[in-house]
Amino acid sequence: MAKITYPCPCASGKLYPDCCELVHKGKLDFPNAEQTMRARYTAFCYGEIGYLVDTLHPKKRRIGDAFSLSKLIKKTRWIGLKIVDHQPGDEISYVEFVAYRIENGLIAQQHERSKFVLMKGKWFYFDGEALPDLKLERNEPCFCGSGKKFKKCHETLPGKLESL
Ligand SMILES: [Zn+2]
Ligand SMILES: [Zn+2]
Repeated sequence: MAKITYPCPCASGKLYPDCCELVHKGKLDFPNAEQTMRARYTAFCYGEIGYLVDTLHPKKRRIGDAFSLSKLIKKTRWIGLKIVDHQPGDEISYVEFVAYRIENGLIAQQHERSKFVLMKGKWFYFDGEALPDLKLERNEPCFCGSGKKFKKCHETLPGKLESL
């Protein structure tokens, strides 16, 4: 397989092999809740269903999860992630994030405060509280991780987004 050298979808600014791939492959010792969150987002982008099921808290797993995840993955085009806050705890951590996607040619947001629970040294996604959309700041770095300002990046694309 060719080595992937493009930026990690989680918009960390690192390349995938130096970022979420380490978590997906279990090569990073004790990823914290934020790293788990990032790797789950990247797993949504890359269709890593095994990782998504594996990091879902056992109490939250349902029969058919893999199927519903694959349906969700196929119909969703994710374009960026912003970690808003990470509140680490001993047994419970919270990660607030916004995941950006294209919906009907427009930028849509999933703004959520996720609860992660630690079990045997590993963080599991438990559930999340949905929060209102964040204002898209024109002069802030774009959520896609391009390094450009939003106004010079994804804001310039309405109408063209459908083809991305
Ligand atoms: Zn990453
Ligand atoms: Zn962008």
